[in-house]
Amino acid sequence: MSTPALDTLRVGLPPRTGEADAGHADTPAARAGTPVHGVERRKMPYPYRAWLAICSDLDETPDAGVYFGTLDLLNGSGPTRFGRGFGLEVGSTIYFDMPPGQFSYWNADDRARSAIRALIRSGHIDCLHSFGDLATTRGHAGRALDELTRYGCRLEVWVDHAVAPTNFGADIMRGSGDVPGAAAFHADLSCAFGIEHVWRGRVTSVVGQGADRDLAGIFQPRHPIASGITRAKEWAKGRAARFGPKYAMHASNDVLRRSTLRSGHSVLEFLRCNPHWGGVSRGETADGVHEVLSAPMLGRLAAREGWCVLYTHLGKLVDPAKGFSRAALDAFGRLALAHHDGRILVTTTRRLLGYGRARAATWKAAVRGGALWIDVSSRVGADRLAAADLAGLTFYVPDAARARLAVDGVECPAIERNPPDHTGRASVSLPRPRLAYPRP
Ligand SMILES: [Zn+2]
Repeated sequence: MSTPALDTLRVGLPPRTGEADAGHADTPAARAGTPVHGVERRKMPYPYRAWLAICSDLDETPDAGVYFGTLDLLNGSGPTRFGRGFGLEVGSTIYFDMPPGQFSYWNADDRARSAIRALIRSGHIDCLHSFGDLATTRGHAGRALDELTRYGCRLEVWVDHAVAPTNFGADIMRGSGDVPGAAAFHADLSCAFGIEHVWRGRVTSVVGQGADRDLAGIFQPRHPIASGITRAKEWAKGRAARFGPKYAMHASNDVLRRSTLRSGHSVLEFLRCNPHWGGVSRGETADGVHEVLSAPMLGRLAAREGWCVLYTHLGKLVDPAKGFSRAALDAFGRLALAHHDGRILVTTTRRLLGYGRARAATWKAAVRGGALWIDVSSRVGADRLAAADLAGLTFYVPDAARARLAVDGVECPAIERNPPDHTGRASVSLPRPRLAYPRP
């Protein structure tokens, strides 16, 4: 389904004249598979069929041990506090001003603060989860941003939290962070700091964004009443999108849209997903994650070739001393298997959203000097994509050995040449190195 807001992002450079084979933007027609002389952009990086980012809000995380232990479990590979690491690439969120007893930057000791900063620099803490419940003024926001700036830490993703005053969301999250003149106004500071992607409380039950809005997967025969209600609620949100903007993202079912904050700042808003049969507010903790990351859910995500920014709170453990339940560990194991066998690319929220933006990159293919050249433009409208956002970009080609890739006219020296995937077609990719995890 086309997203009008995102379509405005799909304005790229016109094809250059004088070359044999004009390429095209990643338009709906292109995604449908219209080949250009045997060259076609693959929807996901090779060899994956789908993307998933665990976007875990740190609410009620009791201490540094649980916070870093969770990151270690998911990103590490050896023994960790909560069991053997799953070797995934998973991010986390951070906030600053919170009551005692809840892990946050200002509540952490010097050692933990240093570890937080290292994980921000590595990309493993990638979301600012508001400035916290106790951040009520522009001064609170400024103090936090000054601290991050002083240490060379950059965060580009904002996630609204509960009803924090610094939230951006007006309807669901009731914040005033983007209302000029409000005590908590900080949108100008945060956008200047680097915040570009914003979540304002929108969660869908539909498994797989960037694919048709299909409610069929919500109903579960084992839970007919609860899942029937969840499906009805999701259907109602789609209907409500006709009458107002609150649920427009549900209707389009895309992961990103261009939005404007009340302060006039332009951001990319994203949609999260919690496909629990009991609704978007069920199973959204460490003790419910196994009911969400189920085998049917992962299978459906891969089959639909969708995107999923998973809404959850992994710091909410029934008994932090005991860690994760066997069921939760099994769920992470299922996800790790899907990642390691090449079905579902598990990454951080920031990296997933970056690739979401890169869908709008234009490209063209031409035969020159006996080689097939694919030239990608990093320019999207008035923006220029970072090289990191183009990482993993994959093109089906007739002969991977003879294909070459360039970005903005500069050849990439170390492209990956991939054997045929499940479609039987070979491809070439821009390298997508894994984030280096600095074990805290
Ligand atoms: Zn929260």
